[in-house]
Amino acid sequence: MEREERFQDAKAILARYVQENRMRNTPERLAILEMFYMEEKEFTPQQVFETMKERFAVSRATVYNCVQLLYKLGLIIRIEIDNQIKYQACFGEREYFRTVCTRCGKCRKFLAANLSAAFNGVKYNRFHPEQIVASVYGICSSCQSKATRLRKKLEKEDAFKEELRELQKRKN
Ligand SMILES: [Zn+2]
Repeated sequence: MEREERFQDAKAILARYVQENRMRNTPERLAILEMFYMEEKEFTPQQVFETMKERFAVSRATVYNCVQLLYKLGLIIRIEIDNQIKYQACFGEREYFRTVCTRCGKCRKFLAANLSAAFNGVKYNRFHPEQIVASVYGICSSCQSKATRLRKKLEKEDAFKEELRELQKRKN
């Protein structure tokens, strides 16, 4: 399913809940849902608040409550990364893996048809598995080329310093 399609499905679920509970339709709530579904990254509620306060006059409490609502509706899932509670869109596919750049945090998602085979025979203790997601950490191509450029620059600087030292030596 495409990103946009998944967002439309999630939007429909939220709209139905809002209508059934006679809640007010707010653009902030939709914007938060959109942030999760279109950016495909995980966010802490604080990060969501930081982004939303630039666009709307919202309080932290409103944003946190909205994140809780989306979580309650099963539209986002809760994960723990580096001792931080983060939330991310709940994707329709049951199995996928993602690559995470350890420099810039960019995530890309790939479907993985045989991922569950690797977990065959795993004994879960008092736990019912619902979804398997694997993360592959590394460096994305743009961070990679940035690092290469930086290294070349430093090498050039080193060569320059070396030349200066040589000149200095000759003078003495
Ligand atoms: Zn990167």
